[in-house]
Amino acid sequence: MAELKDVKGIGPKSLSLLNKIGIFTIDDLVTHYPFRYDVLKRDELSNIGDGEKIIIDGKIESVPILMRFKAGLNKMNFRLVTPSGVVGVSIFNRAFLKSKLLVGTDVIVIGKLDKSKNVITASDIKFDILSNKVKIEPVYHCTSGLTNKNMSTYINMALLMYGKEIVDYIPNEYQERYQFVNKKTALNIIHNPSTSEKLKEVTIRLKYEELFQFMFKINYLKQQKKREKNGLVRKISREKLNHFINKIPFTLTNDQTKAIDEIVKDLEAPHRMNRLLQGDVGSGKTVVAFTAMYANYLCGYQSALMAPTEILATQHYLNLCEFFKDTDIQVALLTGSISKKEKNEIYKGLLTGTIHMVIGTHALIQDEVIYNNLGLVITDEQHRFGVHQRANLQNKGIKPDVLYMSATPIPRTYALTIFGDMDVSTIKERPKGRQKIDTYVKKNSEITEVLEMMYEELKGGHQIYVIAPLIEESENSDLTTVNELKDQMKLAFKDKYRIDIVHGKMASGAKDLIMEQFKNNEVQILISTTVVEVGVDVPNATTMVIFDADRFGLSTLHQLRGRVGRGTSKSQCILVSDSDAERLKIMEREDDGFVISEEDFKLRGHGDLFGTKQSGDMTFKIASIKNDYKILLQAKKDSKEYLENKDTDNDSLKKYLIQSITKVN
Ligand code: ADP
Ligand code: MG
Repeated sequence: MAELKDVKGIGPKSLSLLNKIGIFTIDDLVTHYPFRYDVLKRDELSNIGDGEKIIIDGKIESVPILMRFKAGLNKMNFRLVTPSGVVGVSIFNRAFLKSKLLVGTDVIVIGKLDKSKNVITASDIKFDILSNKVKIEPVYHCTSGLTNKNMSTYINMALLMYGKEIVDYIPNEYQERYQFVNKKTALNIIHNPSTSEKLKEVTIRLKYEELFQFMFKINYLKQQKKREKNGLVRKISREKLNHFINKIPFTLTNDQTKAIDEIVKDLEAPHRMNRLLQGDVGSGKTVVAFTAMYANYLCGYQSALMAPTEILATQHYLNLCEFFKDTDIQVALLTGSISKKEKNEIYKGLLTGTIHMVIGTHALIQDEVIYNNLGLVITDEQHRFGVHQRANLQNKGIKPDVLYMSATPIPRTYALTIFGDMDVSTIKERPKGRQKIDTYVKKNSEITEVLEMMYEELKGGHQIYVIAPLIEESENSDLTTVNELKDQMKLAFKDKYRIDIVHGKMASGAKDLIMEQFKNNEVQILISTTVVEVGVDVPNATTMVIFDADRFGLSTLHQLRGRVGRGTSKSQCILVSDSDAERLKIMEREDDGFVISEEDFKLRGHGDLFGTKQSGDMTFKIASIKNDYKILLQAKKDSKEYLENKDTDNDSLKKYLIQSITKVN
């Protein structure tokens, strides 16, 4: 394929400017889609403001005067009579039009009007006066030194010279099925649309192509993973497993049972497990994880569970000890803060295999940690861990199965894409007897009422989380605001209750200490400037107050709300905000995290759901996961069908698609 520099008109300078905005190949260039279109109507002079764009009909009144400058540049001026008055027209670098621009000729001029000089600087002159009533002009992301006009010229030149060579990723069969135009035509139209109908049609076609290519890749990777036989093969005794499950002090929900079943099947299968276990806060993922660890133990392998913070690791550890107290299973906790001596003991146990299960933080994946036969790795709140960290396990050659747990419900659309190459188990059903958390939206002016509600809970012996109002980090005033809030609460509740603060700039040790005190009910009101550590379990906390609630996404609010309602007492969540009440009202009526995340997603896109980690994979040039869900589903179905269809195995396109995937991975 030709290179960018081969396109006529692209010299070294424009090449480096194009590179600057991420355009390196001809393919990049022709898929540099307009981010919007300006629709120009044919109009009259009097309706157009200074500096505005215009399309106007008129008759040439004066012989064009041509001026030539250095470097082959030129400019032409003439007068145009229009139904709404006479106007001057200037056009650059169209000397070749001079012979056609005769006095008395009818033309359409497209350009920008300078009202004070009464001159239109034209970008184009057309002679076909019967052409459309509107002109749709593409507007591109450009950079200084590279104009919209340049961009358009380069793209059209590239299409003219190399349009036929541009790979069309839609197989013929689907091209025909949906009566799509070919790639070259589609690109021509998207960059030079004549009507909005045509534009719409090819936009769908190009979106489909992009999603087809993407879903093909995901389907392919998934298929490959399934085919790889590099996982552990185990035979798990259902009898022993069921015996164990029957001893759990509550009955598992159907979703929990189903998830366990799916995991156990994965553990037995020869491919490596790569599964996401998702479920709302409190839906009971932990038991599922522990049961998986037990199944793994039955086959003689070690398990490791990674948590994002020490507090969470410790919490899991205590639960795990309780869970396996009547068994011979040896459990250890490995975090950064335990003594060197203890650490060495644990390292030894993991190396020799006397420790069967280990819980910990990042400490689990340090180089010093060598496992004897690690068979299963579980990460809690997986989006907090980087991919390379997970890969960092020293395991004497055994490739463990991996289970990710996430309490952030992912809308179907995202599950399909972000976790597209993972299998997903979902727990939707809640354990029986869970109470709904009452949620109220309050204004700042209703603060007295909020304080009264808090006081009622405190009197009942309960504890409260408070998320402090938004503060500009840069102002460095955050502690002042939080301290003021603390003073206000002190004033309201006197010295009867202990109030403490955790904030973002605090060392993690100090933070953990206060969290610990809150857990032990030595602190009754915990004011936090940051989002409270995900997953902390303090059943006695029954109220969550969130100031400036409008600044959070609904999914985050739902997560925060999930900190309460963990015990048997009725719990509540108070959202304080003076704006965005409509959105916050969703929280009042909805308590299903999946529904909330769908709503959030409709309102805000995926920004709130995850950090930036996934965003690289999520950038599409024309498709949008948010708006093009239907096309995505179709593309998913079609690409899977195409991939699995043996008759197409000799297609050069299929080979090409697979080749391009294996190259980048
Ligand atoms: P999460 O999904 O947020 O990790 P947990 O696993 O911590 O939820 O479960 C929350 C609480 O619910 C725990 O105290 C757990 O013991 C309890 N639990 C889990 N499953 C059930 C069930 N099927 N019936 C009753 N209680 C359950
Ligand atoms: Mg949990």
